[in-house]
Amino acid sequence: MSNNIHRQPNNIGQAAKHPYIAEEIRGKITEMKESDWKTTHYWVKAHTGKGGNELADTLAKWAATNKNIQESYNKIPKSVVMKDLEEENVKKWQRKLTQTTKGRTTKEYFPDVSERLKMKLQLTQNFTAIVSGHEKTRDYLHRFKIIEEPTCPCGKGDQKTDHTIYAWERLTKKRDRLKKRLYEKINGQLTKRT
Ligand SMILES: [Zn+2]
Repeated sequence: MSNNIHRQPNNIGQAAKHPYIAEEIRGKITEMKESDWKTTHYWVKAHTGKGGNELADTLAKWAATNKNIQESYNKIPKSVVMKDLEEENVKKWQRKLTQTTKGRTTKEYFPDVSERLKMKLQLTQNFTAIVSGHEKTRDYLHRFKIIEEPTCPCGKGDQKTDHTIYAWERLTKKRDRLKKRLYEKINGQLTKRT
């Protein structure tokens, strides 16, 4: 099946003045594509007597002169509405996060909602425990009165999450490997960009 969209200066002029019409035409074309229609666009000189063209012209004139149809200048494409809603929601989410006193630890790791949404993270039980401040460190166990001392076996401070991530000597090798990998990854991305 095939369908030809005829265009002539008048049609284009009308469509440009009515973004909603242009949007509607795009929608129809997409719909037809889905049912295996092939659509081609080509420009024809005004009033060549082609059926489709005459019809389009008549409809355009009718729409332009008919006072009874509602004007639709202010209609916005669905994609734009969706994007606006999404942005609005992220803002709301951010406001809530900034105001709340809950989830203090998580907020330290992820203070910015839109930045967090851009990250691809593999969420595991351990990861969630760490970023929510529920990792079973000695400090954690001490806070819940399960053990007597929060001190790390390394003797260089209390075993808080920050200590295990940044300082605990038992993890030095793993930490260095991670640093190296991150360094290579960031470097790689920088080289790709230039
Ligand atoms: Zn330690």
